[in-house]
Amino acid sequence: MSFSKLGLSTPIVKAVADLGYTKPTPIQKESIPAVLSGKNILGTSQTGTGKTASFVLPMLEKLSKNKTQRGKRIRALILTPTRELAVQIEESVAQYSKYLDLSSMALYGGVDVEPQKERLIEGVEILVATPGRLLDLVHQRAVYFDEVEMLVLDEADRMLDMGFIDDITKIIERLPFDRQNLLFSATINEDVRKLADSFSGDGFSGVG
Ligand code: AMP
Repeated sequence: MSFSKLGLSTPIVKAVADLGYTKPTPIQKESIPAVLSGKNILGTSQTGTGKTASFVLPMLEKLSKNKTQRGKRIRALILTPTRELAVQIEESVAQYSKYLDLSSMALYGGVDVEPQKERLIEGVEILVATPGRLLDLVHQRAVYFDEVEMLVLDEADRMLDMGFIDDITKIIERLPFDRQNLLFSATINEDVRKLADSFSGDGFSGVG
């Protein structure tokens, strides 16, 4: 099984080959075709399994195939619990998209907000954010969600443990209703299930 057989096109296959990936991991084999087909996903994979690429690669494929002409508004939003994870995921996005024309940014708290606002004004299509700082910027009207097509909640159980449920709910309420939802969590407990159910009436396909 190769990355191209999973439905990814040359610029993405080349970028992963540059990183030395020779074949997809099990979660990638399951997740990539499911995301490409537009399904909502509930993934239970742990870090270290290739989870990040399992949602970033098909996301890049979809965004690059349907380039909008409406400027660089946020089209994919990835919520993650910590600054470290936000930075790490955005680095992966940048590596995987190096042969594509897509812009990305990591947004997190604990640092000056002004440069972040300037960067957002320049245009960001893939935003990787921690919930608290993102909500601050929503309240300051520094982010627009009207073009968001895909939402990823990464490490959902950890975000809930860290008390982000209200922030996440407020963010999700502002997103377009018609979007694809991907939720990854090491454990699926009742709270994670409730969160998933709250924003996807259509249900989820399980992977991992
Ligand atoms: P993750 O589970 O997303 O934290 O990824 C764990 C590590 O595996 C990262 O260093 C990735 O660069 C690497 N990785 C992801 N997918 C593959 C693959 N198909 N082949 C080899 N390494 C991979």
